[in-house]
Amino acid sequence: MPDNKGFVIAIDGPVASGKGALAQQLAKELNGFYLYTGAMYRSVALLCINKGLNLENESEVETVLPELNIEFEDDKIILNGQDVTERLSKPDTASGASVVGVYPKIRAESVLRQQELGEKAISKGKIVVAEGRDIGTVVFPNAALKVYLTASPEVRARRRMEQFVHQERNLEAELARLITRDRRDTEREVGPLPADPESQGYFILDNSDLNERETVDKVLTELKNRNLI
Ligand code: C5P
Repeated sequence: MPDNKGFVIAIDGPVASGKGALAQQLAKELNGFYLYTGAMYRSVALLCINKGLNLENESEVETVLPELNIEFEDDKIILNGQDVTERLSKPDTASGASVVGVYPKIRAESVLRQQELGEKAISKGKIVVAEGRDIGTVVFPNAALKVYLTASPEVRARRRMEQFVHQERNLEAELARLITRDRRDTEREVGPLPADPESQGYFILDNSDLNERETVDKVLTELKNRNLI
């Protein structure tokens, strides 16, 4: 095994492509640091929701930045001292995140904090497994491996239905919500989801027909091929 000190694996891709599951599993198997960047945008949305602020109002949303204090502790996300892991998985914070994630100041501040967290882990010799939409383009453009994880919209909508088995949800509505979020993420001006990831140096992985294990194995193989592990 090559003696690699810390480096970054960037995982970007659309909603429900399985980035979280892949990144968490890789971090576990490589004893790395899992950096879930969506948690920052979701936390901004949550702070606004809790304060009754209008998510569509950019300057109102910016007022929560000084109160944004996020820590990642094992599998938990701690916002201002409170465990918000469960709360951040709810649909209102998910769609709220894609609204506030278009605002340049929110993105600039979030990116800076993500870079700080990543660099801290790298300085301890850790492999950073970061997932989001702009990791390989903006946050860590020099990542050792950039993975663009995707799957067909139908497969992704079905996966989301399975995640929410206890809630009444309908597939058509889920598909519509997912397409809206993908569009917002791809079309925004700052830090968009790459439209042509191949030309931007990504390893493209479509896991429509793969299970979680097979998806992880594809990335491990790619890391070995590049002599990174
Ligand atoms: O990945 P997750 O579903 O938690 O992301 C929620 C939303 O946060 C995304 O739809 C996207 O709008 C935004 N986001 C982003 N940049 C990231 C991570 C998430 O804009 N790096």
